[in-house]
Amino acid sequence: MQDVSGYFGSMVFDDRVMKASLSAGVYRSLRKTIDQGAKLDIGVANAVASAMKDWAVARGATHYTHWFQPLTGITAEKHDSFISPSPDGGVIMEFSGKELIKGEPDASSFPSGGLRATFEARGYTAWDPTSYAFIKGKTLCIPTAFCSYGGEALDKKTPLLRSMEALNKQAMRILRLFGNKGVKCVRTCVGPEQEYFLITKEMYDKRPDLKFTGRTLFGAKPPKGQEMDDHYFGVIKPRVAAYMEELNEELWKLGILAKTEHNEVAPAQHELAPIYTTTNIATDQNQLTMEIMQKVASRHGLVCLLHEKPFAGVNGSGKHNNWSLATDTGVNLLSPGDTPYENAQFLLFLCAVIKAVDDYQDLLRLSVATAGNDHRLGANEAPPAVVSMFLGEELNDVLEAIETGKPYRGTAKTQMKLGVDVLPKFNRDTTDRNRTSPFAFTGNKFEFRMLGSSNSIACANMMLNSAVAESLKIYADRLEGAEDFESTLHEMIRKTIKDHKKIIFNGNGYDEAWIKEAVENRGLLNDRTTPDCMPHLLDQKNVDMLTGHKVFSEAELKSRCEIMLDNYCKTVLIEANTMVDMAKTDILPAVEAYAYEVARTAAAKRAVDENLACRYESGLVRKLSELTDGIAERAGKLEEVVASLQEIGDVIGQSEFIRDVVLNTMEDLRSVCDEAEQVTAKKYWPYPSYGDLLFGVR
Ligand code: ADP
Ligand code: MG
Repeated sequence: MQDVSGYFGSMVFDDRVMKASLSAGVYRSLRKTIDQGAKLDIGVANAVASAMKDWAVARGATHYTHWFQPLTGITAEKHDSFISPSPDGGVIMEFSGKELIKGEPDASSFPSGGLRATFEARGYTAWDPTSYAFIKGKTLCIPTAFCSYGGEALDKKTPLLRSMEALNKQAMRILRLFGNKGVKCVRTCVGPEQEYFLITKEMYDKRPDLKFTGRTLFGAKPPKGQEMDDHYFGVIKPRVAAYMEELNEELWKLGILAKTEHNEVAPAQHELAPIYTTTNIATDQNQLTMEIMQKVASRHGLVCLLHEKPFAGVNGSGKHNNWSLATDTGVNLLSPGDTPYENAQFLLFLCAVIKAVDDYQDLLRLSVATAGNDHRLGANEAPPAVVSMFLGEELNDVLEAIETGKPYRGTAKTQMKLGVDVLPKFNRDTTDRNRTSPFAFTGNKFEFRMLGSSNSIACANMMLNSAVAESLKIYADRLEGAEDFESTLHEMIRKTIKDHKKIIFNGNGYDEAWIKEAVENRGLLNDRTTPDCMPHLLDQKNVDMLTGHKVFSEAELKSRCEIMLDNYCKTVLIEANTMVDMAKTDILPAVEAYAYEVARTAAAKRAVDENLACRYESGLVRKLSELTDGIAERAGKLEEVVASLQEIGDVIGQSEFIRDVVLNTMEDLRSVCDEAEQVTAKKYWPYPSYGDLLFGVR
């Protein structure tokens, strides 16, 4: 195997390739577009397109696509070939600047939540030059944003880019106030840790629930689950190791900095983490990573499950969004500095995040809400649905000292006034980890842990960026008009701590007592489900904030709320229909066949001796018969409930009906089927068991 540095990024049209293949003038103006958002001249676009095409064709590409992230949550692409007829009857390979910059996919079947009436089928895709083009298979993929002709965003990338711009603008105002002159821009960085399950393809193919919904809808608990905690960081099995090796190679070729991999807590569960990068690039790369994970798995006879809760009673999968703010000069604004002055700036950014998380708990919660993640948040291992923050002991002491005016850890002689020179130097505290907090400070970044494993990270980051931009805007407005900078700063920080300390919790986030305390004493939100939280997207305070920073228009917010709820309803509806189908066409016949065999056995025994009691067979047949009656009744009930769902006209009503009625009816059907699984002979049961699925990869 070649040295990684030899092929890292070999499938990416990155800066190295640009420099080598573009003329100096073209390279310079492209860089200006990438770094400063300068408008791209069509001549430059033509030159870039031509170089991109030559580079891609030399690597075997025949097609190109505008690669985008519609609101379905996955990526979309429409392939066009480079070929163009030449007069001599042959073809030449062509790709113009116009084709690079703008595409017009027939967008009528992507969700728009009413933004684009279906007769106006055209949306357009626009090149995002800050995220490098890459080759996948035989196709040159060009990362793009996707909008309607009216300019409304129809994708996840556009609002993400807008939120990054909003945050940049406000953070720059703060930096200027602190006398930072050299910085040109502030960007957010993200390192998403991705959890997933691997099972064998052979078993996957036997489970309609996994195929249609990505999770098991039935399945009795295996005799062994995760109770021994022997999987976490355990030795990686050879087949999984081979998978990870190939996955890494594929990701490296695409310039994705896959760095760590290990087994997770649940059997068959693993994690992959890349090195962090700028948020929009991290978002594109995470989408690509999820896609490649599945593709590579199929080459190994495996299936990669990205669902948040593939198995009931077993840890679900999340995605930890490690987030920080950095200047173009390489300074991490969430890193405590060496001097009191730097620390004052650090504390202000820290407070901006504290205020943002408290003020916009609802937006953070709903940014990760899906039918799948609802099964995970609040379950045994996952962070609760209540948003709170962990800061660690040291920072906590600093904040407390500032709030109360008492000495910091008894060391400072004078009270902690942010007169900048009195603020003590404190170390960054990386040892103190709290893995149960939904939003934890981990030394120089925040780790937002509520994201589901299949979520696009765009959603969480656009809300986080916008909310922090709002805090910074309020601070900048005040500081710019302040007569005495230092005392205003001190007072603002003190007030933020006082007003928002309710969001800070350093204890065990999984504890029931905490949820009670959070809701009853602190008044924090506990929106357990998607229907509970999603409508808050349209609360006036949220609309004002998001439109104020130009991250969304009001129409876009309405459409998104509608699309997300619709997606929730459709997801559960498919699950309900799959359950009915599995119960009626596989499970009932299986249990019946087994009952028949047992009854026949009793009859055969009695033919030998008519006085035999056959207590085992009689008892079992009665039990199986009760179970089949129960399954048939509950499947019928679920069908009825699903039918009555169709009568509810609005999506909010539908989602509430699903939350209150459909999910419970599904649970009822599941429990009786799982009971049947435990008394039916294994060879009759139509599906691989939890034990087979979880311990099947060797
Ligand atoms: P863990 O949280 O498991 O202890 P690490 O602290 O090494 O692991 O980092 C986890 C993820 O956080 C990685 O993707 C890493 O690149 C990312 N990360 C590290 N520093 C930063 C930062 N300043 N900003 C954003 N992400 C970061
Ligand atoms: Mg982590």
